[in-house]
Amino acid sequence: MSDIEDFPKHLLPYRDQVDSLREVGRLFWERGWSVGTSSNYSVVVNRDPLQLLVTASGKHKGKLTRQDFVLVDGSGLPVLPEQPKSSAETLLHCLAAQDNSVGAVLHTHSVWSTVLSDRFAPQGGILLQGYEMLKGLSGVTTHEHAEWLPIFDNTQDIPELAQRVAANQQPDHQPMHHGYIIRRHGIYTWGADLDEAFRQIEIFEFLLECIGRSASM
Ligand SMILES: [Zn+2]
Repeated sequence: MSDIEDFPKHLLPYRDQVDSLREVGRLFWERGWSVGTSSNYSVVVNRDPLQLLVTASGKHKGKLTRQDFVLVDGSGLPVLPEQPKSSAETLLHCLAAQDNSVGAVLHTHSVWSTVLSDRFAPQGGILLQGYEMLKGLSGVTTHEHAEWLPIFDNTQDIPELAQRVAANQQPDHQPMHHGYIIRRHGIYTWGADLDEAFRQIEIFEFLLECIGRSASM
């Protein structure tokens, strides 16, 4: 049973969120979407001012402990001293969470998102259309929905990547409804809460695997 003595004192108000994110890591690791220390996850714990609970950098996602989380502000900076370092990609979580409707952000490093992001990079994205499973994405009611999953070149300069992602969200560009991919790296999605974000990762991973397997047949 959960033992509150395991929790760092500053995370006590967020016990449920911490344990839910640990469960996400265990499940994603089992499915091969978050192997080793790859991937990162977050939930919004305060809206005004914006604060997120983010996975710490360099932690094995199948074995996250209650110490492996960081409270950060809307700029990705730690809100308290003496926390572990937050994920290198924290800023991408903050960017997604700027939308008031977003309560959780999930990022995986799956084989299919890695492989397909490379193959479809010249097109700038992947069009997902005609699949029944699209209805698992929030607000989608028909398999005829066309979901555009943009692809961004990978970099270690996360502020620069965040700028490119933000620019792509401008109204005069193709709207991003549910997520995006970083080339040869992984996929980001989000949701009103952790359950919704979890479901959308599952949908994207399923659809990407369908496309990848179809292409190899
Ligand atoms: Zn990543």
